[in-house]
Amino acid sequence: MMRKIYDEALVNGQCYQNLHYLCKNIGQRISGSANAQKAVEWGEKLMKSYGFDKVFLQECMVPHWVRGAKEQGFIIEGTKKTPVAIAALGMSVATPAAGLTADVVELHSLDELKTLGEAGIKGKIVFFNRPFDPRFISTGSAYGAAGDQRFAGPVAAAKYGAVGVIVRSLTEALDNYPHTGTTRSEPGDKLIPAAAISTIAANELSATLKKNPKTKFYFKQSCQLLPDAKSYNVIGELTGTENPNKFISVGGHLDSWDLAEGAHDDGTGVTGALEAVRILKALGYKPKNSIRAVFFMNEENGDRGGDKYAELAAQNHEEHIAAIETDGGGFTPRGFGFTGMKPEALRSLVKNWKPLFEPYDADKLGNGGGGTDIEPLQAKAPGIVLIGFRGDSQRYFDIHHTPNDVFENVNKRELELGAGAVASLIYLIDQHGLKF
Ligand SMILES: [Zn+2]
Repeated sequence: MMRKIYDEALVNGQCYQNLHYLCKNIGQRISGSANAQKAVEWGEKLMKSYGFDKVFLQECMVPHWVRGAKEQGFIIEGTKKTPVAIAALGMSVATPAAGLTADVVELHSLDELKTLGEAGIKGKIVFFNRPFDPRFISTGSAYGAAGDQRFAGPVAAAKYGAVGVIVRSLTEALDNYPHTGTTRSEPGDKLIPAAAISTIAANELSATLKKNPKTKFYFKQSCQLLPDAKSYNVIGELTGTENPNKFISVGGHLDSWDLAEGAHDDGTGVTGALEAVRILKALGYKPKNSIRAVFFMNEENGDRGGDKYAELAAQNHEEHIAAIETDGGGFTPRGFGFTGMKPEALRSLVKNWKPLFEPYDADKLGNGGGGTDIEPLQAKAPGIVLIGFRGDSQRYFDIHHTPNDVFENVNKRELELGAGAVASLIYLIDQHGLKF
């Protein structure tokens, strides 16, 4: 069966052409935008064309953040002004209309805010400049270790009186792309403008500050958060022949950042998930349990689609066996990570299934994995196993959240092999379950 699945993926594959349509005919699709709505309609139509048993939408309200005019940033040394590449962080507020100029304090951790205190922070722009730690083998781990600067840095700095925040782009690459991405806040938090700066510009700013601590930074951005907009998760289902109320879900997120086509993040995830279910249908496979391809909305700046999916799963008394997320780029599949299995059960799974994936070079099965969209299911669907698709991670953060995340940077074979691996895993779970 796995050989048949891979043959269908590699000979009759449709995910690459679907991804092409999504990237080139729709393009960027940030939550709440007209393009996000086009993507919803595209997804629904495509799922219907595949003749799934059920195709439906789940309505959810999503944040509607807009970037506004292209941002401007300058390093200011006396009368010398050097333009640098910046991009507002998603969900950030604007600077004053004329922009914002202030002294800069360079930090490498959020803890340093406490050390310096208000005396060292107030009235300044905080420049978080901790780079990716290259010693991590998985770049996702490096992202996780540096990510607090972007997620939590701006709100933390505002508490000490900072007037703005500049964050080194979360990437290993040394280039001139500012990598956007969301920054988080809770209701009542003081918000200050925050932007990502390219790694080349971050190095330049740091070097300039070392030479001349009186260096100032200027930036201007006009982003704003509009009222929540109506949007949808898109779901296609093959209904289980034995257990229609037991579910295996596979998905990625349909929304993308506004700066790119969202090819790897996460066009490959949604088209790959859909392809996995299409393959099973094309092979005439009649699943025991219901299998769903889910295009989640709003992973990037709110997770509202993931929350809604979990909420409705509980409300409809659905029993969820497993949810698989693919949101790490459409690179060469290596295997899968599992969260929510007892260690001895996972050991048995690895022992039994690793040999099946070995011929396809996707046999790295192990502990830990999931994804932002499926995490809410842990609380709402007790007993569920969350599974993360693991692709090669080395190039993902080169293009992550930048204008370079385009269709041309996706490899057709890698994408198809990924869909084959995911479809195979769904098949095995459907046949055997996850109780070892
Ligand atoms: Zn993503």
